[in-house]
Amino acid sequence: MRTLTISTKVRESLVDITGKVAETVAQSGVNEGICLVYAPHTTAGITINENADPDVAKDLLNYLGKLVPADFPFLHSEGNSDAHVKAMLLGSSVTVPVTGGKLAMGKWQGIYFGEFDGPRSRRCIITVLGE
Ligand code: ZN
Repeated sequence: MRTLTISTKVRESLVDITGKVAETVAQSGVNEGICLVYAPHTTAGITINENADPDVAKDLLNYLGKLVPADFPFLHSEGNSDAHVKAMLLGSSVTVPVTGGKLAMGKWQGIYFGEFDGPRSRRCIITVLGE
């Protein structure tokens, strides 16, 4: 298991953590198994999407902004309810198969840590299971 620290400088961002997850898998010595990537937060999440064209991550953030307007009459008094909803839409974790000692991901896929209530420092827990 490894815990990454992810620091952001803006309120919302999709941080590509594919390289760090792949590095963790390589260091684990697991050849066949699974890799769980988990965000222990209520206003941040994890997702997999295209990381070839950086505009895709920007589009996803822009679209989430349209889908979850910050000025919706939310009840939660912290003022960050849009961030809670966006985190829910991403989910708290992804699980990726590990085969041949590597993440079995598609060519265009990347793993993103989604920050929706930054800037701040966050944790991301990576667990690699298998043999
Ligand atoms: Zn809140």
